[in-house]
Amino acid sequence: MTKPYQDKQIWFLTGSQGLYGEETLAQVAEQSREVARELDASESVPAPIVWRPVLTDPAAIRRAMLEANADDDVIGVVVWMHTFSPAKMWIAGLEALSKPLLHLHTQANVALPWDSIDFDFMNLNQAAHGDREFGYIQSRLGLARKTVVGHVSDARVAGEVGTWIRAAAGLAEARSLKVVRFGDNMRYVAVTEGDKTEAEIALGVQVNTWGVNELVERVEAATAAEVDALVAEYERLYDVADELRAGGERHASLRDAAAIEIGLRAFLVEGGFRAFTDNFEDLGGLKQLPGIAVQRLMAEGYGFGGEGDWKTAVLVRIANVMGRGLPGGASLMEDYTYDLTPGHERILGAHMLEVSPSLTSGRVRAEIHPLGIGGKEDPVRLVFTADPGPALVVAMSDMRTRFRLTANVVENVEAPDLPKLPVGRAVWRPEPDLPTSAACWMTAGAAHHTVMTTAVGIDCFRDFAEMAGIELLEIDESTTVNEFRNAMRWNQVYHHINQGV
Ligand code: MN
Repeated sequence: MTKPYQDKQIWFLTGSQGLYGEETLAQVAEQSREVARELDASESVPAPIVWRPVLTDPAAIRRAMLEANADDDVIGVVVWMHTFSPAKMWIAGLEALSKPLLHLHTQANVALPWDSIDFDFMNLNQAAHGDREFGYIQSRLGLARKTVVGHVSDARVAGEVGTWIRAAAGLAEARSLKVVRFGDNMRYVAVTEGDKTEAEIALGVQVNTWGVNELVERVEAATAAEVDALVAEYERLYDVADELRAGGERHASLRDAAAIEIGLRAFLVEGGFRAFTDNFEDLGGLKQLPGIAVQRLMAEGYGFGGEGDWKTAVLVRIANVMGRGLPGGASLMEDYTYDLTPGHERILGAHMLEVSPSLTSGRVRAEIHPLGIGGKEDPVRLVFTADPGPALVVAMSDMRTRFRLTANVVENVEAPDLPKLPVGRAVWRPEPDLPTSAACWMTAGAAHHTVMTTAVGIDCFRDFAEMAGIELLEIDESTTVNEFRNAMRWNQVYHHINQGV
């Protein structure tokens, strides 16, 4: 079975001690191999689980953690105290570990053999207190981790491990992510600003700016043959408006849009960039604001934010990585306008152009319309409505002393016909309701730009925030404005104290 992160590894470490003798340690090794194998075999576990030899002393534990740190393929470590592993043995190793940590509280057997149980069995299968000893030292050291409880044959357990692995893949991506900004932020906008140095310290993302005319050079270098091939691909994949088709009066605009995609892709590939931004105020020699190009690149997995919004570009990329292999997708989204009909409140979200078609399973139209902003030629864009179903919107704000993620669980709903709205869009009902959601959102200072993901849920972002050490405020079906405001205040104190002076 090829897994979504087949080129990554999760190391499975088992704790024990020398007191039990060789025979018992051989049983520990055999049983922990079986637990690791069963976890690895689960379809909801998206990266290979690699069993490592049982650890019984401080030097070996520290060495294992240093090896995990040094191996770029290892994106996280699962630890289980099969028997009893006195936890002071783990201090040096845990302090050295720089990869995400999952504490798997499990045991080899499901039920107890009540009729035959003796003290040998008790000594072999004592994770119930061995793992509590381990929980203590993790808390004493103040370690970020996820604790998963249950037998690995339980689909819930594999599912929770799988979600954590997706978050770990997202963090590994952040730590190697290069973002290119074409131009700066939209003039006068506040929330898209942010401390790029701090972002590299906190998340590992490298955010740098290139002049848009370096992109224009790549666009101008697109050959007629490359443009022919891409236009043919557009005509195969989308319902292309007649005026844009070969022989149509605006076919040249489709060719311009294709050249922009070719140039943009070349720039991203050449620089190793997996996320990018642009700004309609600073398009240099580009003939159109990139629309269809940006939409298709997001659907392929790139991150994107409009108006120089590199923070949302990072989120779109991370959400795309975390959702790899799952149905649905991730896109830049913007809360645009409301239906405030009492009891049926909904949000209509879109952007000028740049919404990813990975949000729909339906046919997509390619159209051209005026933009009315930016002063360039009319841009080609993909037009569709996001599928109904569960979704999540997440925003990142720079609160000056830290980054804050705010997430809202939402439900994408069937949209009415929108014959005069030529953009990709989604219509959703936020949890727990629009008045509570919007009041909390603005209390948090969360952005108007978000990533909307229909592939992963809030659990995955919660795991990501925990391992990245970044604040996450959650708005879901149980949220009230008062409790949310209190949680925010506690967070403010916690994060200030936690990061020190
Ligand atoms: Mn915008």
